[in-house]
Amino acid sequence: MSDREFAAYVCEHIFEGSRPVLLVAHEDGAWQFLCGDSHGSDAIPRVVGMNHILDADPSLRDVLDLPNNWEAERSSVGLAWTRTGIDSTAQ
Ligand SMILES: [Zn+2]
Repeated sequence: MSDREFAAYVCEHIFEGSRPVLLVAHEDGAWQFLCGDSHGSDAIPRVVGMNHILDADPSLRDVLDLPNNWEAERSSVGLAWTRTGIDSTAQ
């Protein structure tokens, strides 16, 4: 089971459960679950097991097929995700 326990980076709001996840980024092989709001420059990302994030909000499973270097955003819980490629190469 531990092979399914991927690490995920979350902002302090997701860590505390004070805000829902509205932005998911799969970048350079790492998953980030963020509230989509701005954070102070002193904000420290927290690392949690991805299973705990998914248990808290099962709708996040909809974006687990997100390819590497893509992100998905929604304006509120229950609305559709908008997927965007992360432009890591200058075009
Ligand atoms: Zn946040």
